[in-house]
Amino acid sequence: MTRLKIAIQKSGRLSDQSLSLLERSGLSFAKSKDKLFWFGRNLPVDLLLVRDDDIPRLLLEGVCQLGIVGENVAREKLLEARSRKPKAQLEALTLLDFGHCRLMLAIPEQSDYQGPADLDGKRLATSYPYLTRQWLVDNGVEADIVTLNGAVEIAPSLGTADAIVDLVSTGTTLRANHLKACDEVLSSQAAVYRSPETLDEEAEKLMTTLLTRIEGVRRAAESKYVMLHAPRSRLAEISAILPGAESPTVLTLEGQGDRVAVHAVCTEQVFWEHLEELKRAGASAVLVLPVEKMLA
Ligand code: ATP
Ligand code: ZN
Repeated sequence: MTRLKIAIQKSGRLSDQSLSLLERSGLSFAKSKDKLFWFGRNLPVDLLLVRDDDIPRLLLEGVCQLGIVGENVAREKLLEARSRKPKAQLEALTLLDFGHCRLMLAIPEQSDYQGPADLDGKRLATSYPYLTRQWLVDNGVEADIVTLNGAVEIAPSLGTADAIVDLVSTGTTLRANHLKACDEVLSSQAAVYRSPETLDEEAEKLMTTLLTRIEGVRRAAESKYVMLHAPRSRLAEISAILPGAESPTVLTLEGQGDRVAVHAVCTEQVFWEHLEELKRAGASAVLVLPVEKMLA
């Protein structure tokens, strides 16, 4: 019997949401606290819990068939792999809208920055040498790269670099080290990646089922089910206000004359402003409900 393996981060910023996504996709695992391998209980899909940096390699080597990892790590490791094997491929299948971060160029607070050309002949410290190199090449800049595995932000004050390229979320670490972000190298979020290895027919079927479910969970998270009452004469106007809704279901309301019930799935965020606009268009009894699962 074919089994698929999914790699996720063992402990870190992506762990909880990666596991929750898989569980909401209907997978259940025999969890064990210190083991790196969780056996799949209800489907032939097992989990591998590893450092996020190892996930791209596990996919490239075909040890795992799916992995959840930040675009920052996946792209860096893919570029690294391509330096040895130019045809290496790693495909992001679904962006997951968590683990958002930005890989930024940062310089000492008192320095000026007009654009990438200012970096010509300078030294940059980073844990992302391949992404940094690619960004420099894309901008036609020649600079030296110092690869550091941690504490990148202290490099300028130690005099080992003029600037850094590092992940930034709030900017607190930068400020503490008297640095300021001045350009974006990459904007990143967690994504589902698939191994380039080909699968047999049975495994491919299982993969499709799994990916359809994951996509369904992700779409459901963004969607809302909206129910309301409205005058039939204003249906076109009401439909136009519902964000990301396709043709809504219209139901007769017994003994209410011109008023009908309207049900619609909104695939975009529904704000209070939308509800107020609906009310002005004659809607009443407006209900917004979460959607748990979706299968197109
Ligand atoms: P590991 O032990 O698995 O190697 P780590 O220390 O490399 O862990 P985390 O700090 O848990 O990793 O970050 C994992 C991923 O979370 C990052 O690669 C990035 O994609 C994402 N991320 C989101 N926000 C941030 C942030 N503010 N700083 C760093 N990473 C972030
Ligand atoms: Zn890591």
